[in-house]
Amino acid sequence: MSVVKVGVNGFGTIGRRVALAITLQKDMKLVGVVKRTPDYAALYAASRGIPIYTPTAKEAEEFEKRGIKVGGTLRELLARVDVIVDATPEGQGAKNKPLYREAGVKQVYQGGEKPEVAEASFSTLCNYEESKGRGSLRVVSCNTTGLLRLICTLNREFGVESVRAVLVRRGADPKEVKKGPIDSIVLNPPTLPSHHAVDVRTVLPWLDIKTAAVAVPTTFMHMHHVTLKLAKPVERREVLETLASAPRIMLVSSGDTGIKSTSQLVDAARLSRMGYDIPELVVFEESVAVDGREVMLFQAVHQESIVVPENIDAIRAVASSPLTLDETLKATDGSLGLRKTLW
Ligand code: NAD
Repeated sequence: MSVVKVGVNGFGTIGRRVALAITLQKDMKLVGVVKRTPDYAALYAASRGIPIYTPTAKEAEEFEKRGIKVGGTLRELLARVDVIVDATPEGQGAKNKPLYREAGVKQVYQGGEKPEVAEASFSTLCNYEESKGRGSLRVVSCNTTGLLRLICTLNREFGVESVRAVLVRRGADPKEVKKGPIDSIVLNPPTLPSHHAVDVRTVLPWLDIKTAAVAVPTTFMHMHHVTLKLAKPVERREVLETLASAPRIMLVSSGDTGIKSTSQLVDAARLSRMGYDIPELVVFEESVAVDGREVMLFQAVHQESIVVPENIDAIRAVASSPLTLDETLKATDGSLGLRKTLW
């Protein structure tokens, strides 16, 4: 099996998870990560023996002062990899792109970048096979990944004609101490429809979809209320069976577990997992209501981890991996421990 050499630029919320996930893949090698500041995450990377690079030579001195060995600059890392995953803050990826192109490496960007940054937007269950061999891909945002996992799963089985969704978004990630809201429900954005529908259409341009979003004071997860119009009438049982057997979707029964909130989901994950990442899309079983062609449900999205499996698949896609869709799902989800039930 050939091994793809990968670098990760940015070791924040997404970058650190993608980097650690790469270390678990048999067909990938993590060559290094790019860190700008020698903070606790850099100390952790160093303690794991992950080679650390800096954006330019001038940041290296601060790392050395802290006793963190630096492997070189971003340019030097680029000379050693086949694929770079850019997980820097929104807009920085587009600025980094000329450097990546100059180095001739394949690129995987995140959803905070504009779609034009890459040749195509990516979501495994929707377009893994047709994304193979692209020079660059953009893994869509956490909310869009959650929506697309659901839509592409139901579309494959029944056909989806339209989607209307209200997104209740977390105000900040747990480590973002300066972000809010602390006590408000904020129209996010105030204009309708929200940009999430536009983002879904970067992968499914034919879909009639409209979204609205608010931000609330929580760090745990997003919650979506989704209404889909299918191409044909279905039974509730058929929808539940489809969701129960689909990859990367977990049905959670509020009746059986008593879980009816994101905080209880996170608490359950804390009991049963290392950390509390929930890379699965969680659909609340009893919320699934079906009336002819209309399906309504609540789903929860763990914003910090849901895009990690898709990033791993995107690396395989740009590297023209021989793995089929089923094989990449098996390899990624097996190595990351994705489950169909909470435990
Ligand atoms: P983050 O702020 O947690 O991490 C970004 C990291 O990049 C930080 O460690 C920062 O120090 C570093 N950095 C800043 N400038 C840099 C530079 N010039 N070169 C190298 N590193 C630099 O951000 P994040 O939440 O991980 O977001 C990264 C991308 O992922 C964004 O496009 C975002 O929209 C997307 N995304 C975020 C989430 C989420 O919920 N946090 C979910 C899905 C997608």
